[in-house]
Amino acid sequence: MSSPDRAYWKPAEETLPRPALEALQLDRLRQTLARVWEKVPFYRHKLDEAKVSPDAVRGLADLRRLPFTTGADLRETYPAGLLAVPPDEALRLHTSSGTTGKPKAIFFSRQDVDNSAELCARSFVATGMGRQDVFQNMMTYGLFTGALVTHYAAEKIGCLVIPAGPGNSDRQLLLMRDFRTTAIHITPSFALYFADFLEKHGVDPRQELALQRAFVGAEPYTEATRRKIEAGLGVRAFNSYGLSEMNGPGVAFECQEQQGMHLWEDHFLMEIIDPGSGEPLPLGARGELVLTTLVREAMPILRYRTRDITSIMDAPCACGRTHRRIQRITGRADDMLIVRGVNFYPQQVERILMAIEGVGRNYVICLEGLDEMTVKVELSEAGMSDRPEPMYALQDEIVSGLRAEILTKPKVELVPPGALPVSEGKARRVIDNRKL
Ligand code: AMP
Ligand code: ZN
Repeated sequence: MSSPDRAYWKPAEETLPRPALEALQLDRLRQTLARVWEKVPFYRHKLDEAKVSPDAVRGLADLRRLPFTTGADLRETYPAGLLAVPPDEALRLHTSSGTTGKPKAIFFSRQDVDNSAELCARSFVATGMGRQDVFQNMMTYGLFTGALVTHYAAEKIGCLVIPAGPGNSDRQLLLMRDFRTTAIHITPSFALYFADFLEKHGVDPRQELALQRAFVGAEPYTEATRRKIEAGLGVRAFNSYGLSEMNGPGVAFECQEQQGMHLWEDHFLMEIIDPGSGEPLPLGARGELVLTTLVREAMPILRYRTRDITSIMDAPCACGRTHRRIQRITGRADDMLIVRGVNFYPQQVERILMAIEGVGRNYVICLEGLDEMTVKVELSEAGMSDRPEPMYALQDEIVSGLRAEILTKPKVELVPPGALPVSEGKARRVIDNRKL
């Protein structure tokens, strides 16, 4: 443990020796199986099909015998096909931010609501946050889990909570100034936008604001983007991972070491599989994250295919927590682009862009026609003023950087700071209008 005075939310649970943690997982897995077998016909049917009964699971290695649950399963069983409690025991409904078709409905019992806040509070405390903090929640309140779960978590810790919601940068700044906000929860795209806003208004956050921490998540972003957020807002930015299907935020979170995110293994079982074949991959390999809930009451989910690409880090963390970490999510299996026969993820484009001086904080990948790719890139304020003439040089630098990374040569269009749209929710990084 690198700092003996570090506050822990629940040290006994977060530092359980691995054998005890795994015994707890097995016990909870078996309870979950018994529960879905009894209460959810969808799972009874799936388990029957896979020829596994709950008592056939004797060790964690048997997990791989269980059937997967996919996003499509959640949509097909909408609205209440996976509910494992009587309807009057459901306390809250969230839906996931799916962009097409039916949403996924996620039910919480009273215990689930409490556990979701508890896990998130645990995560916040792992970053060094405490009751003295003033927490400004700049996420969308509503059906999205992102704001409500963290809201109750910060209240649990005893922080002053400001439910600001996203957008309206003038008001955000006013609140930050007047109430001495120390911690914010924000999407990476809004964080970059807000950093621009501060710069444009000549606000030096280190001098004029009390910000210390930003919890940044809900969409993939790169290390280079993290550094831009940290520099632009004068904070340490902690990576925060979650998904509605597993409570929302607080599934995996960076501790103060900021080397990967601890995934709370007393609540979730994790696996990494090959997204194509569905076969489990060896520890440390990169692939699709699959999660099984271990304590969710209203809506337990077995082997959920998150589509998120990451890997498990097995090495112990210097903070002393025993729950294993996952690497930064590098993209979603569904986000992979194929342009002129070459495969890549939008995050590869972001990694190159954010490392180039003069590039601002927003970009969008536009695909048109038969397979034409244009990357529209905002310049930074400095990029605008420092480089009136050698704009072509910057453009060339971006094109060659991208070509080396994604092995195809896109068109690059430079636009002034603030020219590209910013969404209040999750950023839309790819606009695909191809007629293929
Ligand atoms: P939702 O269910 O609407 O909260 O969306 C969850 C999805 O957002 C996840 O499956 C991820 O694809 C994405 N996501 C959430 N947090 C992060 C993060 N820290 N890094 C990358 N992607 C994230
Ligand atoms: Zn740690």
